[in-house]
Amino acid sequence: MSVQALDTRKGDPKLMGQINQALILNLLRNGNGLSRTQIAQKLKLSKATVSRVINGLIENKIVSVIGEGESKKTGGRHPVILSTNSSGRFVIGIDLGTTNIVVGIANLKGEIIKKIRVPTDCSHSVEKIILQISNLVEEVIKQANIKKNLIEGIGIAEAGIVDSSSGIIRYSPNFNWKNVNITSILEQKTGLHVFADNCTRVMAIGEIWHGERESVNNIFYVNVGYGIGSALMINGKLYNKHSEFGHIPITDEKILCNCGKYGCLEAVASGNAIEQKANHLHNDSKNRWITAKDIAERAEQGDLVAQKIFKEAGYYIGKGLSFIENVFNPDKIIIGGGISAAGKLLLDPIVESYNYFTMAIIKSTTKIELSTIGMDAGIYGAVTMVLNKRIFYTSLL
Ligand SMILES: [Zn+2]
Repeated sequence: MSVQALDTRKGDPKLMGQINQALILNLLRNGNGLSRTQIAQKLKLSKATVSRVINGLIENKIVSVIGEGESKKTGGRHPVILSTNSSGRFVIGIDLGTTNIVVGIANLKGEIIKKIRVPTDCSHSVEKIILQISNLVEEVIKQANIKKNLIEGIGIAEAGIVDSSSGIIRYSPNFNWKNVNITSILEQKTGLHVFADNCTRVMAIGEIWHGERESVNNIFYVNVGYGIGSALMINGKLYNKHSEFGHIPITDEKILCNCGKYGCLEAVASGNAIEQKANHLHNDSKNRWITAKDIAERAEQGDLVAQKIFKEAGYYIGKGLSFIENVFNPDKIIIGGGISAAGKLLLDPIVESYNYFTMAIIKSTTKIELSTIGMDAGIYGAVTMVLNKRIFYTSLL
């Protein structure tokens, strides 16, 4: 945030204090340790303001001293180097899938220190799954041997339409839930703050903080899994509205999509579409469902049919990305989700098709990359969501 932007909020001292704290913590979060003077210089804040905020953060064990820097040439005391205190607070992240539930506990630096993966209760009943989650939360806290009063909250990543401000799951196609107030029920059960959001948006948060990314402001994130989801980051902030890349009409073929429409990208290029196509073509193996992983392995071994299936999926995704490019022109497009584990098998036809359909002058500024955190994006994103809301107050920046 610019200093100019701060000026408009100078009327409210409490808010200014919170903004200063958020600015300082986010600076420390991204760095390898800074002195009070360096923080003051970088943020154009007075040394007195920085010292006041830092003293409070040290008292609350959110910031700690990690060493001493070089003293000035003229002599004097060595400056104290500060960093976020990784063991000062903890957060819990939950990746709620239809097959597995992954629960992880992370420190203030967002590092996962304990992770549990269990099969999801197959009844898919709201009550049973909430009970399963609350038991897993207790279990992960016990296994990590952490005091509950140091836990700032729980973040949940779930497929479907989730109202991120209230945490209510409006519609979950996988569990067939409607209007489930999962955050409120879990808060009562666990006594912790709970936040929930759509899994693709959460994965994008995880990718942005934990992936090996240079600082870019505008990102289009694609989650190619059983379905196809998407999320946008605009000017460094996650766009808080629907982004349904999977349901852009990509073909005139009458292929029915899960959403009830025909010819959607998801109907021809998702993990489900890839598996449907493979099982239809390989009708000799009717006894066993061929998974996307099987098809990727066959393609790697030179199976031409399997290669063609990935080429077609990549063709449609790349064509879809050309629409995004023409409208949004992001700095970076990231391909994540389970199917992105196929690597170049998926990425190469995406890039080829994207290059074919996109105007040269626009595409020259955009990079297309595979996710660097892969299957962990959901759990990393879920813990980062809580850190952002409870510690780093990124919404104020
Ligand atoms: Zn659709």
